[in-house]
Amino acid sequence: MSIAACGVCRTDLHVLDGELPDQHVPIIPGHEIVGRIDALGEGAGSLKLGERVGIPWLGHTCGGCPYCTAQKENLCDHPLFTGYTRDGGFATSVIADARFAFPLGDIGEDVALAPLLCAGLIGWRSLVIASPAKRLGLYGFGAAAHIVAQVAAWQGRSVYAFTRPGDTAAQDFARSLGAVWAGGSDERPPELLDAAIIYATVGDLVPLALKAVAKGGVVVCAGIHMSDVPSFPYVLLWEERRLVSVANLTRQDGLDFLALAPKIGIVTRTTTYPLRQANEALADLRAGHFEGAAVLVP
Ligand SMILES: [Zn+2]
Ligand SMILES: [Zn+2]
Repeated sequence: MSIAACGVCRTDLHVLDGELPDQHVPIIPGHEIVGRIDALGEGAGSLKLGERVGIPWLGHTCGGCPYCTAQKENLCDHPLFTGYTRDGGFATSVIADARFAFPLGDIGEDVALAPLLCAGLIGWRSLVIASPAKRLGLYGFGAAAHIVAQVAAWQGRSVYAFTRPGDTAAQDFARSLGAVWAGGSDERPPELLDAAIIYATVGDLVPLALKAVAKGGVVVCAGIHMSDVPSFPYVLLWEERRLVSVANLTRQDGLDFLALAPKIGIVTRTTTYPLRQANEALADLRAGHFEGAAVLVP
């Protein structure tokens, strides 16, 4: 594929910082790829030359392990991940496994679609796992939360956005996307939540989120890496509160979400960088210098 746009994700920083196991070096990061097909290998199915497709984080699964055969390919024993264990999209071209390429159609700009391929997809999977929460907390209002807030509002849920304490720009941004309340992660929401999703990589948020959910509520950790979770009194988990993580995605998640996205009319907030400024984009993401998502354009 020739690459038209590739989103920059927090996971790219984990890859660069060597925080993930089984690190492949050297590797080309980037797993929110929008591009067009230049050439097709054997067995590429119904894809066509020139077709616009999206390449997500899940780049390959074995198809035969107990997870793959139980419709849980997100947990495959022998996976490949784009931009982590196979080369990704911080480039002008990429080779992908056709079975893991999502046709994107003609609607929407390349740059606007890129963040849907991880922030959107992982966000979607975490939202499904948090369902059927009416009052939903989102901790860390970055690329994923800014998409999930729009989906959740469209579904009729009430979104409570938690940002870095004092980050009024992110709180204003959250309210502009339909959040009914926005505040610092050190604040208590005005009412108890049915579920909370943690997108930030900060383990200290886990007990805070458990404190914010009502009896029977669920706290979903959506990141691939998090700083250590501090010890907390059992009473925070008591009364059938649940603490779970979300790992990767399945192709069905992608098909479900990408079919729904145009109906919801999701508008992604993007900051575009030329590919040669990938390091600036990564530094700005680390420093929280923009709202929404950064996207590289070759
Ligand atoms: Zn497998
Ligand atoms: Zn990602």
